[in-house]
Amino acid sequence: MLAFDEIYKAISEREEFTRVFEEIPLMQPSEIMDRKEEICDWIEDLLIYVYVYGAEQALTDLGEDLTALAVGEDGLREALNKTYDDKGYRDRVLEHAEVGDAQGILLVADTDGHRMYNAGGYTEAKGKATSKVWHTMLDNRVRDTHDYLEGMTVGIDEPFYTYNGDEAMYPGQFESAAENCNCRCWVTYE
Ligand SMILES: [Zn+2]
Repeated sequence: MLAFDEIYKAISEREEFTRVFEEIPLMQPSEIMDRKEEICDWIEDLLIYVYVYGAEQALTDLGEDLTALAVGEDGLREALNKTYDDKGYRDRVLEHAEVGDAQGILLVADTDGHRMYNAGGYTEAKGKATSKVWHTMLDNRVRDTHDYLEGMTVGIDEPFYTYNGDEAMYPGQFESAAENCNCRCWVTYE
């Protein structure tokens, strides 16, 4: 799997990426409000793309050919429809789009994109890998609860437990939204 900054570098030429991260910041608040449904669709396209991309990266980690790609519609829909505090990604985007807040939309794209990339990787690695290793960006922005997990190896089907009691099968999947927001952690599969 790629580290957070490498994912965006790798997909920076993709339409799914440029529409969100280059076009939205140039839009006036009124335009964002008028085009909110279209913006939700752009975010959805980005989330689907990074999910599949994460799956491909997990296969690469495991030394397998991309023709072995196994992630399907069910896993994708489940990850896409994951809710926090009863809100799905579309609700999170609309909350910001309805007030014309470009930066808020980009934060949702970042946080949910990171989660979907890791969800795709985990779903693909399940049944193929035996263990997974947690990595942080190793800088001073890493929160203590994730620093605790740096370098930790667990079985593929076991959660990573951090010291505050929260747990996640992969980065971005903690119960508490606060543990997922702005997370840049990543895993490798073995
Ligand atoms: Zn993190």
